[in-house]
Amino acid sequence: MKSLTDLTFDNRFARLGDAFSTAVLPEPIADPRLVVASHAAMALLDLDPAQADQPEFAQLFAGHKLWSAAEPRAMVYSGHQFGSYNPRLGDGRGLLLGEVLNAAGEHWDLHLKGAGQTPYSRMGDGRAVLRSSIREFLASEALHALGIPSSRALCVTASSTPVWRETQERAAMLLRLAPSHVRFGHFEYFYYTQQPEQLKILAEHMLACHFSDCSEQAEPYGAMFTQIVERNAELIAYWQAYGFCHGVMNSDNMSILGITFDFGPYAFLDDFDAQHICNHSDDAGRYSFSNQVPIAHWNLSALAQALTPLVEVEALRASLGLFLPLYQAHYLSLMRQRLGLLGADDTDQTLIERLLQLMQGSAVDYSQFFRRLGEQPPAQAVANLRDDFVDLAGFDQWATDYCARAASEEDNQDARRHRMHAVNPLYVLRNYLAQQAIEAAEQGDYGPVRELHKVLSQPFEEQPGMQRYAERPPQWGKHLEISCSS
Ligand code: AMP
Ligand code: MG
Repeated sequence: MKSLTDLTFDNRFARLGDAFSTAVLPEPIADPRLVVASHAAMALLDLDPAQADQPEFAQLFAGHKLWSAAEPRAMVYSGHQFGSYNPRLGDGRGLLLGEVLNAAGEHWDLHLKGAGQTPYSRMGDGRAVLRSSIREFLASEALHALGIPSSRALCVTASSTPVWRETQERAAMLLRLAPSHVRFGHFEYFYYTQQPEQLKILAEHMLACHFSDCSEQAEPYGAMFTQIVERNAELIAYWQAYGFCHGVMNSDNMSILGITFDFGPYAFLDDFDAQHICNHSDDAGRYSFSNQVPIAHWNLSALAQALTPLVEVEALRASLGLFLPLYQAHYLSLMRQRLGLLGADDTDQTLIERLLQLMQGSAVDYSQFFRRLGEQPPAQAVANLRDDFVDLAGFDQWATDYCARAASEEDNQDARRHRMHAVNPLYVLRNYLAQQAIEAAEQGDYGPVRELHKVLSQPFEEQPGMQRYAERPPQWGKHLEISCSS
């Protein structure tokens, strides 16, 4: 276990030079205090959990101190936002502090979000507010605990520095971790600015650092794109199976590694609604829940376009063609698990689609349904769930088919319950839970954020005294409007 001063830096991205990022120092925020830290994320850097209690911890992650071996850089990228190309984005309020090499030989990017203005800030103040920093922290760690690929979050630091959004708020910083912060938009930037050499350097860097198994292939860049398609197909399958709505799937918010990235007005579904739009500013519903599948494909096409100087168009097209079938296979497999079904049957897809249609019409709580389905043997479980549905005849027909499908396999309830509870969370990061914790934190009480984080770090385990975190939202918590402003 290491102390804060023992971290080993190896800043590979910084070494790519000024065409890729600009050196900028963090601008500290006033009176830093630690809101919450993730011991699990600290372990990725081999950090002793007790280090979070050291005053230096909050100072480092509020921009007051810096390791001498860190090389803070603002990365340049562009991207398609709501379907339109924006030629210049970049880290407008976050800095890649450096890459830490851990004992397992892994590199982890340390990215400080809310670190002040950079050459890419445009009209922005370079800051992040407390509420959005807490939201990103909670979601990153909650997704990870669910087994869904995501960037990670080490800690949130609060301050007394005022910032203006719709009203006056306080600045905070989030320390984010990921094996790489390279987005689809990084490649788009070098493509649209017609810098083929830089594009190649970037591709080579990603290949060497993150897709080394593609290097031996006949067409390494093509193989890398195929893997990016595969990883994103798997990621989106997780989102759809677990009711996660990202909210701002712009191509600059999509990770080359296929991890959930850049959290804004996201939501986990409460009542199942395929058309749910979690981003209050998304009037047309471009990023609605069910649109996430075609939008991911669209973003991958935008990335493919940026790779045309490196890979034959036909090869890119063939890789893109893998997305939908791969997505469907992953999704089906995850949903079978959530339903407790063993093996595979040709009728499974229809069984799942029929269930979602029934849920859609009845405002059934998406997470609780699966948890309750595993709690008792199939016949008893569906009898208990029946009251939640409006179309009783439709549900009865579905329940009969589901029970027959479950009975067709060698299974027993103990094993089934155990298996289903291991994939169907009891605790989900519902927006109203995040909201309650944020309101307390804004009053200086960090207990609720810490408790919520702790509960969500073991979402499948029933935790004594924590029942209230497993409840459906109260009426006020059902339609919270989360804006893009953060
Ligand atoms: P986001 O909506 O957080 O994905 O950010 C989109 C772009 O706007 C990125 O280039 C961000 O760095 C930039 N940005 C967002 N908020 C700010 C801010 N407060 N100050 C400067 N740049 C920002
Ligand atoms: Mg972004």
